[in-house]
Amino acid sequence: MNLFVMGPVQMFDHTMEIKKKPLPYFRTAEWSTLMLETEVLIKKMLVAGKDAKTVFLTASGTAAMEATIMNCFTQKDKLLVIDGGVFGHRFAEMAERHQIPFDTIDLAFGESLTAEHMAPFSGKGYTALLANIHETSTGQLYDARMLSEFCKNNDMYFIADAISTFLADEYSMEGFGIDVTILSSQKGLAVSPGMSIVVLSDRIYNERVLKIPPKTFYFDFEDYVVNQLRGQPPYTSAVGICMEIHDMLKSLEKEGMENRLRSVRAIVDDFRNRIQATELILPDYPLSYAMTPMIFPRNNASAAFNMLKNEYDIMLTPCPADLKDKVLRVGHLGYHTIEENGPLVQTIAEVLSKV
Ligand SMILES: *Cc1c(COP(=O)(O)O)cnc(C)c1O
Repeated sequence: MNLFVMGPVQMFDHTMEIKKKPLPYFRTAEWSTLMLETEVLIKKMLVAGKDAKTVFLTASGTAAMEATIMNCFTQKDKLLVIDGGVFGHRFAEMAERHQIPFDTIDLAFGESLTAEHMAPFSGKGYTALLANIHETSTGQLYDARMLSEFCKNNDMYFIADAISTFLADEYSMEGFGIDVTILSSQKGLAVSPGMSIVVLSDRIYNERVLKIPPKTFYFDFEDYVVNQLRGQPPYTSAVGICMEIHDMLKSLEKEGMENRLRSVRAIVDDFRNRIQATELILPDYPLSYAMTPMIFPRNNASAAFNMLKNEYDIMLTPCPADLKDKVLRVGHLGYHTIEENGPLVQTIAEVLSKV
C-alpha cells in the first residue's frame, strides 16, 4: 500500500531497521545519553534556545495538547483559540472541559486567517493564543509571524501545535516567539505513533509550569523536565519509538534542515503543478508543504478515495464528515520521492474518469 496519509506515514528504511532491534533496558546511563542527545537535537531543529525544557510523553499528540493546557493555564486565564478545523476545535473543547475561559476565532472552510481576524481581539486581556500552525483538517498554514506579532503586542503566550508543520515548513521557536511547541512522533518525524514531545520556553516553564499546582499525576510536566535533566523519564517510555526518534533526528542532522525542507518543497511543488492539469482544484488559502488538499468539483471525493484504496493500493487521506465528498488530502510527510508524482497523478486522473 502506498501511503499518502497524515500519520502514521510511510517510513524510511532506516526506521524499519531500528524497528527490528530488540528493546534495551532503559534505566541505564546509555539510555540517558540517547535521550539527552535526542533533546539537544530536537531543540536545535525547533530553534528552541538552550534554556528550553523538553517533555517526552508516551501518549498521542492530543494528550500533549491537553497536558499543555493543564500545566500552563488555570481558570484565571483567558485563552484565544484559532478554530479553523478539527484540531483548532479540539483546543477549544479542551479549554471548555478544563473550565478555562476562552474565545475562538472561527474560520469557515476556504477562509484565510489574516491580521484582520485578530485585530478585534487585541487589548482584550487574553493571556495566551492557542493555534495549530498547520490546521491539518483543511491544509491551511497560518502565518506564524503574524500570530507572533499579535502575541508580542498583547503580552500573550504563544502555544503552537506544530504536529503537522514540523519538517514540512520553516519553523523557529525563537524566531516566532513561541512558548510551547507540541509534536507527535507519527507525523513529520515519520516514526511509529505513541510518543509526543512538548518543548517549553524557559519563560513559560518558570512563570507557569513551576507555579501552577499540578492538576494531573501522569502529565505533570515538572516531573518530566526534572527527570529529563538526567535523560530519564518518570515512567516507562515507549522505548522503541524513542529509538526511532533518535535515529531520525541523527539522520536529519546529517541531511541538514535546509536540505530536508528544500527536497520536501521540490516534491510538493511538482505534485501541485501536475495535479492542476486535472479537474481537481487547490484551495487558495496558504498551504503547508505537509499536505495538498484537493477539491473535487463533482463532489465525488469519497468514491475516488475508495477506488484508489481498493483497486490501486493507494491510500490518500479522506476528510471528516462535512467535507467527505468535497475534499481529499494527499499527505507528503514521510518517505516520498519526486518520481512517485507522475504515476500518482496519472492514477488519480484515471480514477476521475471512472467516478
Ligand atoms: C495529528 C494531529 C494531532 C494529534 O493527533 P493524535 O491522533 O492525538 O496524535 C494534533 N494536532 C494536529 C494539527 C495534528 O495534525
